[in-house]
Amino acid sequence: MKLSVLKEVAPGDRRVAVTPETVKKYVGLDHEVTVEAGAGVAAGYTDQAYTEAGATIAGDSTGTLKGADVLLSVRTPDPEGLPDGLTLVGLLDPFKFDASAFNSKKVTTLAMEFTPRITRAQSMDALSSQSNLAGYRAVIEGATIYGRAMPMMMTAAGTVAPAKVFVMGAGVAGLQAIATARRLGAVVTATDVRPAAKEQVASLGAKFIAGEDEEFKAAETAGGYAKQMSDEYQKKQAELVASHIEKQDIVVTTALIPGRPAPVLVSEDMVKTMRPGSVIVDMAVSQGGNCPLSEPDKVVDVNGVQVAGFTNLPAHLPADASALYAKNLLAFLPLITGEDGSLNLETDDEIVTAMMLTRGGETVNERISS
Ligand code: NAD
Repeated sequence: MKLSVLKEVAPGDRRVAVTPETVKKYVGLDHEVTVEAGAGVAAGYTDQAYTEAGATIAGDSTGTLKGADVLLSVRTPDPEGLPDGLTLVGLLDPFKFDASAFNSKKVTTLAMEFTPRITRAQSMDALSSQSNLAGYRAVIEGATIYGRAMPMMMTAAGTVAPAKVFVMGAGVAGLQAIATARRLGAVVTATDVRPAAKEQVASLGAKFIAGEDEEFKAAETAGGYAKQMSDEYQKKQAELVASHIEKQDIVVTTALIPGRPAPVLVSEDMVKTMRPGSVIVDMAVSQGGNCPLSEPDKVVDVNGVQVAGFTNLPAHLPADASALYAKNLLAFLPLITGEDGSLNLETDDEIVTAMMLTRGGETVNERISS
């Protein structure tokens, strides 16, 4: 089949959906790959590297999409220029997805975010591959904004105390944030509402802090995600966090509930108790934020506390983020490839069904509204 890759249009997104390594694999499987000129440059992949791997470079988006069966993308492309009947695979932000624009062109859309969390789909799980890098980068960004060192240092001129880092939400991003902060020498604590997180946090050498009542014991869905917690639990959680947060130097918040606004975990009052010079990195800012004071892609100064909101941390590591994401796509493609190598959407594979948002002009996924 013919695979196309456009230059990303989302502002600030420096990732690309194929790397020379995955192009070589696709070509080895007898697929044709066309890449828009310059699509990989921001991630360090030149047109020449793609050509050497076997891709064709097209000068513009129209040329890239000519005759395409499948468009591989990082984020949602502009539906305007897409040919009728195309199949699109990407991180399509399904809960904010405007299906009508794609339905009017009968574009089949497959959202990588809806890859089910089953063992067979692990190699395709782009949320995990990107969150892992984002968690790492959140700590690097936080450490850069923080005006002190992370590890303890005993020098002739005096002792530097280790930074205290508190990670809220110990999922994929949070666990990598914990591991990174530990490697940098910080003293790390973490919280989550899912009991499974407790052991994982401890295994990384951090201390787990949470109200462990009956609701906590049942807070994980069958899909491995967190449930929305009751008002009563959230009140107890807030009290626990309030007394802890005032002693922290860097707070990294990662808490998300799929399809819902992010839970508020760090209130304005809590921020006011923190020491000037301390830092909050809100990774949930695109979903409304875990801290009401964070703003997308800004660092807000609140009485000396720096509140940073990052909407797309994987794009701060474009080479690695692209390499891992491109491998997720490579692992997924066989599920929509027929025995003769052509596109085959006639499948009842649960992974494809879970990811499909639209097909033949209709919205086919119950998890999105239109
Ligand atoms: P996520 O990005 O949806 O949420 C981040 C974290 O925030 C989660 O750990 C969640 O429990 C936590 N959270 C939600 N509300 C909270 C609150 N009020 N207070 C504190 N924390 C809160 O989740 P994620 O990181 O994508 O994944 C969650 C878990 O799923 C992972 O830890 C992992 O073990 C599991 N997972 C399994 C597979 C698989 O089996 N294939 C793949 C990926 C992840």
